[in-house]
Amino acid sequence: MDATATERKVWPADSDSRGIECRKCGCRHFRVLYTRNAWGGRIMRRRECRNCGKRMTTWEKPG
Ligand SMILES: [Zn+2]
Repeated sequence: MDATATERKVWPADSDSRGIECRKCGCRHFRVLYTRNAWGGRIMRRRECRNCGKRMTTWEKPG
């Protein structure tokens, strides 16, 4: 597994895009590449930092 290529984190449902910060450059602006429903009713979003291009996968819990 390449830990740098895919990073997963479960974010609280109420901090969707507000609380996400790029761990590489600290930028808070992300482009959403795609969104899909995942296991457990979660929502998976693939995001790309608009500043440095680092990609992250975020998982949002329902409720
Ligand atoms: Zn960045």
